[in-house]
Amino acid sequence: MAAEIRLFPCLTDNFGYLIHDPATQATASIDAPEAAPVITALEHEGWTLTDILVTHHHGDHVGGIPELKQKYNCRVVAPHDKTAKIPLVDARVKDGDVVKVGTLLARVLETPGHTLDHISYVFDDEKALFAADTLFSIGCGRVFEGTYPMMWESLLKLRALPDDFRLYCGHEYTAANVKFALGVEPDNTALKARADEVARLRAAGQPTVPTRLADEKKANVFLRADDPSVAAAVRLKGRSASEVFGELRERKNKS
Ligand code: ZN
Ligand code: FE
Repeated sequence: MAAEIRLFPCLTDNFGYLIHDPATQATASIDAPEAAPVITALEHEGWTLTDILVTHHHGDHVGGIPELKQKYNCRVVAPHDKTAKIPLVDARVKDGDVVKVGTLLARVLETPGHTLDHISYVFDDEKALFAADTLFSIGCGRVFEGTYPMMWESLLKLRALPDDFRLYCGHEYTAANVKFALGVEPDNTALKARADEVARLRAAGQPTVPTRLADEKKANVFLRADDPSVAAAVRLKGRSASEVFGELRERKNKS
């Protein structure tokens, strides 16, 4: 039986995600922005929370943990970096570890840059990537704790995943990301197609995720910092991909 994935809005612009294993009834929440919408989604499906898979320590990803832990006594899985303050952690994971959610397997990728502790969860059999605040649709997270080369390496790790994987990211930022990206690459055909799709989805009140990794690789300028045309677009022809990436990120910060 195939895993079931549900997404729903949390806080202002976060996504909440549940992944459910029909074989064992195990259900994981990817991060816990706040408890109430997670509980509502669980009750709607008749599921019980068994695990919370935490990506990083920011409040909008861990704020719901205490209430959910109290209600379900679920396991809290978090990055191994203990300097980051994450409440009620039961298990620490690092790059290459595999987390079991019932019979479902989540591979841990360390993807630092946004924060130093940031990890992403890859469900290979489900072809699902939960990238939180490392990779957004048509964007990427702000680099708060790491460096631009570090964040670029993290994005390369995610870009190396197969084209038919789906990206489930931490925030609904796609419309703003599209606006910025079109300023850099006004003639990118894949980006223009995505812009139309995003406008249609937002007008209908629909989320813009998940997206196919194949489409992100073509349309997301932050995944294309090693493309000479992107370097030229930001007037850094011949410079390294991480420098081009850093320039893109700084421009986006100011946009
Ligand atoms: Zn964050
Ligand atoms: Fe966030």
